[in-house]
Amino acid sequence: MSKRDYYEVLGVSRSASAAEIKAAYRKSALKYHPDRNPDNSEAEEKFKEASEAYEVLADEQKRQIYDQFGHQGLSGQGYSGPRDASEIFSQFGSLFEDFFGFGGNRNRNRPRRGADLRYDMELDFRDAVFGTEKEIQFEKEVSCQPCKGSGAEPGSTPSYCSTCGGHGQVSRNQGFFSVATTCPACHGEGKIITNPCRKCRGRGRSAKKSSLSVKVPAGVDNGLKLRIGGEGEEGDLGGPPGDLYIVLHVRESDTFRREGVDLILQQPVSFVQAALGCKLDIKTLDGKETIVVPAGAQYGHRITIPGAGVPHVRGVGRGDLHVRLDIRIPEKLSKEQREILEQYASLSHEEVQKGGQGFFQRIFDS
Ligand SMILES: [Zn+2]
Ligand SMILES: [Zn+2]
Repeated sequence: MSKRDYYEVLGVSRSASAAEIKAAYRKSALKYHPDRNPDNSEAEEKFKEASEAYEVLADEQKRQIYDQFGHQGLSGQGYSGPRDASEIFSQFGSLFEDFFGFGGNRNRNRPRRGADLRYDMELDFRDAVFGTEKEIQFEKEVSCQPCKGSGAEPGSTPSYCSTCGGHGQVSRNQGFFSVATTCPACHGEGKIITNPCRKCRGRGRSAKKSSLSVKVPAGVDNGLKLRIGGEGEEGDLGGPPGDLYIVLHVRESDTFRREGVDLILQQPVSFVQAALGCKLDIKTLDGKETIVVPAGAQYGHRITIPGAGVPHVRGVGRGDLHVRLDIRIPEKLSKEQREILEQYASLSHEEVQKGGQGFFQRIFDS
């Protein structure tokens, strides 16, 4: 069987950072987790594929070998990828604890913390600067009421798993060692539900639409995460809920560019205004402000208006607004303007083209 490219499997670029790779794997693992896709062999294959890609790309040494020599390079090192889901759980147990709020080796009889959720929020530039309040709608998994998330019909008792004898783990020989891994039959629970809850059909959970009013503080920037404690998925058997993370995506402004708490405004000025100096009314976030352009100002000259930038998201005060002069040359001149400029040129002994004829046309004419 030919293997897919690991970067393609996780949907990341070849230059992806460790954090990006982890986030991409988290997404796949959440989607294809066997607990969420019972009796779905395709999902399990995807889960294995993503786990294998992650195992390689998260390891600097393996990633380097893979980048240079591809799949072949790794098989030369004796690497063949994980064999099954339970091996993945025992390998990445602590990672899944991070991802889902529970380990791969989960135990249905103990309270479990609910999973964390991510919500992507788009924000207007101004709303990010001054803060806002937004109503969001999202779906979250909640614990099934009748079975309290256990998946077993109320009043019924699950039977012991015969594969592992109720231990939740099985031993496998690997070379000289005997390695204990999560039981593949019961996923480490030690029990098999013979009489599944009728409401949730043994899943223990159901999806519920939720809405929430979110206060976005002034001064937030693109990529910032807001954590809202306890608004993630519900825990099972009395476990605490997970958290909701709101990832902010701030739209760009047509007028201002943001550099941390400072704003940059590119302000067009005619070459005459720059040469002679002038006063200009410019747009700020708060309205208008008059700036003085000194005579002889050059391209890129910076004029700073203190405190007209973005509020500090934690703390007090605001950044500055930097006005950068963008000195413009007129593309067309009237006859009179041209004559005056020709006079200017002769005063300063500058060689110029006279009378408005095209330069190239003159070459061909002569
Ligand atoms: Zn078992
Ligand atoms: Zn149920």
